[in-house]
Amino acid sequence: MRVAIAGAGLAGLSCAKYLCDAGHTPILLEARDVLGGKVAAWQDAEGDWYETGLHIFFGAYRNMRRLFAELEIEDRLQWKSHSMIFNQKENPGAYSRFDFPNLPAPLNGVAAILGNNDMLSWPEKIAFGLGLVPAMLRGQSYVEECDQYSWTEWLRLHNIPERVNDEVFIAMAKALNFIDPDEISSTVVLTALNRFLQESDGSKMAFLDGNPPQRLCQPIVDYVQARAGEVQLEAPLREILLAEDGRVAGLRIGGIKGQEGRTIAADAYVSALPVDPLKLLLPEPWKNLPYFSKLEGLNGVPVINVHLWFDRKLTTIDHLLFSRSPLLSVYADMSNTCREYEDPNRSMLELVFAPAKEWIGRSDAEIVAATLEELKRLFPQHFTGSDQASLRKAIVVKTPLSVYKTVPGCQALRPDQASPIANFFLAGDYTMQRYLASMEGAVLSGRLCAEAIDTAARAGAIGPGVAGASAALAPV
Ligand SMILES: Cc1cc2nc3c(=O)[nH]c(=O)nc-3n(C[C@H](O)[C@H](O)[C@H](O)COP(=O)(O)OP(=O)(O)OC[C@H]3O[C@@H](n4cnc5c(N)ncnc54)[C@H](O)[C@@H]3O)c2cc1C
Repeated sequence: MRVAIAGAGLAGLSCAKYLCDAGHTPILLEARDVLGGKVAAWQDAEGDWYETGLHIFFGAYRNMRRLFAELEIEDRLQWKSHSMIFNQKENPGAYSRFDFPNLPAPLNGVAAILGNNDMLSWPEKIAFGLGLVPAMLRGQSYVEECDQYSWTEWLRLHNIPERVNDEVFIAMAKALNFIDPDEISSTVVLTALNRFLQESDGSKMAFLDGNPPQRLCQPIVDYVQARAGEVQLEAPLREILLAEDGRVAGLRIGGIKGQEGRTIAADAYVSALPVDPLKLLLPEPWKNLPYFSKLEGLNGVPVINVHLWFDRKLTTIDHLLFSRSPLLSVYADMSNTCREYEDPNRSMLELVFAPAKEWIGRSDAEIVAATLEELKRLFPQHFTGSDQASLRKAIVVKTPLSVYKTVPGCQALRPDQASPIANFFLAGDYTMQRYLASMEGAVLSGRLCAEAIDTAARAGAIGPGVAGASAALAPV
């Protein structure tokens, strides 16, 4: 069966891969000239890579790890020590660590929390531990019920001191969804904590060993093409064409760089677009269906990824760092953490600038200047005195609408992969799966989407010869 998929981010790529495994033929259509969507990256004139976002892989990412294993590229994940490292707020240049010993979960997590005395006091740790008991006992159903509360509201409901937010969860909320604890749904934070506390390696982190388009996306493309699938870049979906029976009849693909537009016909169709562009392309008759109208409540959040190249080494830490700074979220010295970006003598910092609402419209120069100001606190030894580090170059990548903003109430709005239109399906990190807006969520959504298509094909609801399929396509 031919399946046309619009969008070659991780969700579209994963969907194509698992459709091949089920014996179908995907045609993947990507608007841009680069693979990967939110993991896309580019090379500047000097050959240095810059990325849409600093990306971390967690031990809890079972579906992503399975994909790496199936592609035989597991050695491309560079696993770091099992720790979480935070900058100290009151002590510039110093760090506070949560080190997870080699014990089964949840003992390793409990030991990591008890072993850190810089950030939380004993009464705060006890209050917080008691607050987590329902989540641990009742699991995901409790976590889903909590989608009515922001994280700050959840802490108040459990009489957990506000200081716990200041010390830990502002950094955590910004890392999870680029927003503050007052905005983020408690379901998101509890989901992450549950994974971290229930799986021994859940919070262990890895960096990819190089740029994601070549090191992760291209092997999926090679896999798909080796199985008769197609991948077309610069093939933007412009219109979803409907047949008289209400099913999809084809995808209208725009012609760019002077080329003619064209129509792609298939037996089934997938949108693996982010939710914001999908909403703009919904055919008029679909807009009142609750499945599609609910998407109006899902909206991308702005985020900025800053790359700074320096004339010297600022740190030798080979790990993700939580800045706990007002303007920044997490950051890493990629010259230490990523094989392809390695430099023994000079640092390349990749920093996530969030929340970015107030900054997304500002100039790159303003954003770089504000980031450098924050670095005075993160690396005081290199940004004070007579011999200061100098910036060689900077690149700012803005994403005005990135992953959907996980405010309270979003769980009920997230769609299943199978839509009410028999031959139309959705993949994407915003669609319903247990990993929220993440690379793992995108990969899982792609696999669930491929499974839904295969199930519909086996049930005879879609496929060659079924109305609306390519064999019976009405002229469009
Ligand atoms: C700064 C930043 C940091 C992040 N850090 C992490 C992290 O550390 N860990 C983690 O797990 N996740 C992280 N994420 C989230 C992660 O990148 C996303 O959840 C995931 O990559 C989304 O994949 P997707 O396929 O659902 O969507 P996307 O990656 O957005 O893919 C959608 C694709 O559709 C294409 N498209 C759009 N319109 C059209 C059209 N009309 N026709 C055809 N194609 C179209 C786009 O070009 C894109 O390629 C981060 C994201 C950002 C922005």
